[in-house]
Amino acid sequence: MISSDNDTAAESSEPARPRSAERTWYSSLHWMHWMIIVGSLMVTLYGWYLTTEQIEEKGRLRYERSTSRFLNLVVERLQRYEDALWAGAAHVESMGGGVSVEEWKDYAERIGIVRKYPGINGMGLIHYVPAEEFEGYLAEQRRLRPDYEVHPPVENSSEIGYWPISYIQPLRGNQKAVGLDMAHETNRFRAARLTRETGRAHITGPIVLVQDAQQTPGFLFFVPFYRETESSMEFEGLVYAPFIMKKLLEGVLARENRHVRVKIFDDEQLIFSDQNNGELKTDPDPLFQSEASLPIYGRSWRFEFESDLQFRHDVSSSQPYFILLAGGLVDTLLLMLFVQITRANRDARQQAKELRQAQKQLARANDELSQFNYRASHDLVSPLKTIRGLCELVGMELASGDTDAVKDLAQRIRQQTERLEKLVKDLLDLCRVDRFDTQLAPIDCEKMVSTVFESLRAIIEEEGVRTRLSCRLTGAFYSQEVRIQQILENLVSNSVKYSHPEREEKFVEVRISELRYGWVRIEVEDNGIGIPDEAKERVFDMFYRVGNSSQYGSGLGTYLVKKHVIALGGQISLESSPQGSCFTVDLPNGKANDG
Ligand code: ADP
Repeated sequence: MISSDNDTAAESSEPARPRSAERTWYSSLHWMHWMIIVGSLMVTLYGWYLTTEQIEEKGRLRYERSTSRFLNLVVERLQRYEDALWAGAAHVESMGGGVSVEEWKDYAERIGIVRKYPGINGMGLIHYVPAEEFEGYLAEQRRLRPDYEVHPPVENSSEIGYWPISYIQPLRGNQKAVGLDMAHETNRFRAARLTRETGRAHITGPIVLVQDAQQTPGFLFFVPFYRETESSMEFEGLVYAPFIMKKLLEGVLARENRHVRVKIFDDEQLIFSDQNNGELKTDPDPLFQSEASLPIYGRSWRFEFESDLQFRHDVSSSQPYFILLAGGLVDTLLLMLFVQITRANRDARQQAKELRQAQKQLARANDELSQFNYRASHDLVSPLKTIRGLCELVGMELASGDTDAVKDLAQRIRQQTERLEKLVKDLLDLCRVDRFDTQLAPIDCEKMVSTVFESLRAIIEEEGVRTRLSCRLTGAFYSQEVRIQQILENLVSNSVKYSHPEREEKFVEVRISELRYGWVRIEVEDNGIGIPDEAKERVFDMFYRVGNSSQYGSGLGTYLVKKHVIALGGQISLESSPQGSCFTVDLPNGKANDG
């Protein structure tokens, strides 16, 4: 089968499916564009990730600095107090162990205990008094303070001795502590004994100080002092300082502009919490939380830290989001740019392609034009020459008086002029082929085919060809009437002209039917002489005629048909064998396509 559409031959009898969807913008981008966009996206995400990490790391460092500074300050402060207590012990020892209440007062004032050591409640002396020396001790104390009492009574004082607070400075606020026996309560007594046994500073577990009206947790801080005898250092008692946890830490916290909350536990007992500190706003989901345990003078304190809302606010930054936003913007702009470039590229390629096609068409048209000029003049001249020759013969026969010969010659002249007329008509049709009115109109196919049959009636009858028509259209067929008519005329006249002389039943059948996508198919089939395989390719060429054709023709009929089909946006194909030929023309239904 041979087909011809838009000047190209293709092996298809099906109409082209209408192009429904253009290529989507993203599928038309080059892989390089995608690489750049994905790369830039990855850089953006990496930048965002890095800044987030850096900000988190900065926050973590700040938090750790804050917690470790807090711990250092607590330890530092306690060390200062320890030093003060050791200095007190050294003072007592330098006085040979016997310091009077006045001397202690004098000492405490000199070192400015409350002023220089914020958080401390005072500094005092606890004497260890074995039971047998208790009366002497009491008498000695009452010499200057007649109302001095050791309290409260302790059951086993006779075994463990007495551990009374002999003096404390400043006295104001500490009166209740004077005479308090450390042995009356295990926590105090345990720390006092440990101090004596180890010779090192110790603190008690959490206690409520007698001085603290608010009854908050506090502790006592002990260091031992000794009296030097000839053979050894004899334990004399303890220098001590009472602390209220809250006051001690107020001093520490005041120096720290922190946004980390802290809770301190001794064993499992909460001894300090800044929960009620209005400046620190609790973060329901703290950014950082941590714990630290410190050995504190024979106790172990556990510190629980967590960052507060202000901390979250201080360390949070919108930088990563800006990076994301800026990166996203750049990527979007890149994408838009690439889409624009690709579109411009595609348009340029399309234009170049169209230009190339136009050039080819122009070259072909040029070729055709020169061929046309040559063939037209040749084909016009040859019948004219024949006519002139015949006219000369007529003159000679008239001179000889042979009227029969003259009649015969006149008949031949008539045939030649008919051929000439047909050629001129075909040439005229060809010249007008591109200048038809392109108006679409509904075509009454049955009527048009009947008209064509009618116009060819003489030759149809002469050749004894039977005509058949089958029109199976459900709706209107919109096309250009003159072109359809010329297509039908040429194909039907060829089928009649090239009918097989020896066929008993010669026929030409025109079939019109509907295809998919609103296309219409016109088939013109005959049982004529057929077209040899080697000629099929060229049947649609200008001036081409099959060599053995006995019939006269211009060689322009099928060329003209093809031109019309192309102008209508359709395609034509041919199937032929010695049993006959079938030309198939597929055309878009103008109305259906418009709709
Ligand atoms: P022509 O004017 O010679 O008929 P066409 O362009 O119409 O020129 O046809 C080209 C050639 O194709 C014809 O010369 C003829 O040999 C061949 N041809 C066309 N149609 C048929 C057909 N239906 N049966 C056999 N041969 C055909």
